[in-house]
Amino acid sequence: MSDTPSQPASDTTVPSAPAASPVKSMDEIMSLCKRRGFIYQASEIYGGINGFWDYGPLGAQLKKNLREAWWQDMIMAPCWGRKGPGGEKVRNVPVETCIIQNPKVWEASGHIGGFNDPMVDDKETKGRFRADHLRGIYTDLIPHSQHTTEVQNVVSSIAQPATAFVPKVTIIASTEGEAVDQVHNDKKIQKLCGIKNIVEPFVKVFNSSAWHGKVDFGKEVLSCSLDAVPIETLKAHAAQVPSPFSGKAGSLTEPRQFNLMFKTYVGATASEDDIAYLRPETAQGVFINFKNVVDTTRVKIPFGIGNTGKSFRNEVTPRNYTFRSREFEQMELEFFCHPDESMEWFEFWRKFRMDWWESIGLAGDNLRLYDTPKKDLAHYAMAGSDVEYRFPFTAPGFGELEGVAHRGSFDLEQHEKHSKVKMKYFDTDRGELLPNGSKKGEWYTPHCIEPAAGLDRGVLAILCESYTKDPSRPSPEIMRFHPRLAPIKAAIFPLVNKDGMPEVAEKLYDELMARFGKTGLIETDAKQNIGKRYARMDEAGCPFCFTIDGDTLTAGTVTVRDRDTGAQERIGIDKVSGYLSEKLNM
Ligand code: ATP
Repeated sequence: MSDTPSQPASDTTVPSAPAASPVKSMDEIMSLCKRRGFIYQASEIYGGINGFWDYGPLGAQLKKNLREAWWQDMIMAPCWGRKGPGGEKVRNVPVETCIIQNPKVWEASGHIGGFNDPMVDDKETKGRFRADHLRGIYTDLIPHSQHTTEVQNVVSSIAQPATAFVPKVTIIASTEGEAVDQVHNDKKIQKLCGIKNIVEPFVKVFNSSAWHGKVDFGKEVLSCSLDAVPIETLKAHAAQVPSPFSGKAGSLTEPRQFNLMFKTYVGATASEDDIAYLRPETAQGVFINFKNVVDTTRVKIPFGIGNTGKSFRNEVTPRNYTFRSREFEQMELEFFCHPDESMEWFEFWRKFRMDWWESIGLAGDNLRLYDTPKKDLAHYAMAGSDVEYRFPFTAPGFGELEGVAHRGSFDLEQHEKHSKVKMKYFDTDRGELLPNGSKKGEWYTPHCIEPAAGLDRGVLAILCESYTKDPSRPSPEIMRFHPRLAPIKAAIFPLVNKDGMPEVAEKLYDELMARFGKTGLIETDAKQNIGKRYARMDEAGCPFCFTIDGDTLTAGTVTVRDRDTGAQERIGIDKVSGYLSEKLNM
């Protein structure tokens, strides 16, 4: 949950090591996603609606596969059988809870009082933006002489621009990468900022959120730094900070808090008493059912309760494709344990969640585990780590994919206080040993470790990571999905649409569909030349294509083409199902 930030925040955090792999083009990824039916703009025929996205046939299946991988590895067979810190089996159960709950839930959780983003309006243009997304080009912070030779020495003075510094021009960008991209490449932004030319491209200052460059503003060429505009600056100098919409100073309001929850009415009268909210997270559905689950099942602490489904946040500036949407899906686990064991369980989950994202294809320098500094933790949290991915639009920084938080006993205690229902747990395995050999038992409020993942952000990371460009291939754009996630598991192509080949293909299709259909699609296609069909499957991320040709009819063999290498081999048609099973590890 995002508390009111006091420092400039962004979708990105600074990497600890220089980026190794090249940054991919978001435009190319989005274009492929549209072309191949992964993601569409919601309500597109009516001009779209900001912050909402629909998934096409391949996207829906990819998303389902990722959700099911989470469900399998978190609920059905948690952590691949890995044992907990005390050598115990990990046990988790699911719930599925309502999007609309009694509004008192959100009072208790703190969302009604505190789920705010700071928002600024431009009184003249009526534009609106999130205060923590405002970035400025400062011209008076680094003398040019120091800029080139003594950057390290001035880092500390520009890392957090003092509130006294007012930027020369401002832009809206939720990440450092986006800000630099706009300043370098967006002609409209350059015009608005009065930038005639970038004399020296902006480069990142080591260990700081600032970027340095040299800009020709027409009348003068200045060494500049690009950095966040602290909220304190907006408060202290509202009259001097230039508007990111008009470039003029004096039209911005001071930052105001804006609640992110969507309101609706339950019942016909639509009066104040009927106000309800669309849930901003799935986690609270678990806490309010904690007692139900304990009372109606045989779970014993430690155990977890998982909840997946849609959440809604009226984000002030939805951005970066599906990364920050207003409607999105979460996969959250609330793991309850004894307070004395909670730090060990926190360590366990933070490690497992990192391993899990790696296991489905995000391994490498684009993924990292970032420990939240103590000063940035929510007041109730005892520890926190984020699994972060280096999205093309956050590069060289990272964006959060999943937060793993040690929430202490905060949530259960809040609900106990507000509902007056006892949330304490009686642990029969604790307390002193009685003469009859049993334990006396102990009452306590369990601590909660919360691995909270975003399904849509997960899909986006998988799409970005899988997207590969190889101009040397006849099919230059390839989606290298992990086989477990691939929406199409196999394609079957009759080489020509005659001579009995379509019939053989149809029979093989039925066989593969019966065996693999639960995990993804099997595709048959007899149109176009075979090269075009392969290229279409490469873009769809289908790992294997089986082609029925003349030899199939005479010798009973087919060709198998591997998506990642483009290599082909011949196998018996009766071996196809076994081959696929082995390759897909299913
Ligand atoms: P952020 O700081 O990016 O706003 P958060 O810390 O508020 O995220 P959580 O409340 O911890 O996010 O939610 C858990 C996960 O839900 C996030 O790690 C992210 O993957 C996903 N998520 C949160 N907000 C959004 C959103 N607006 N659009 C898509 N996914 C989101």
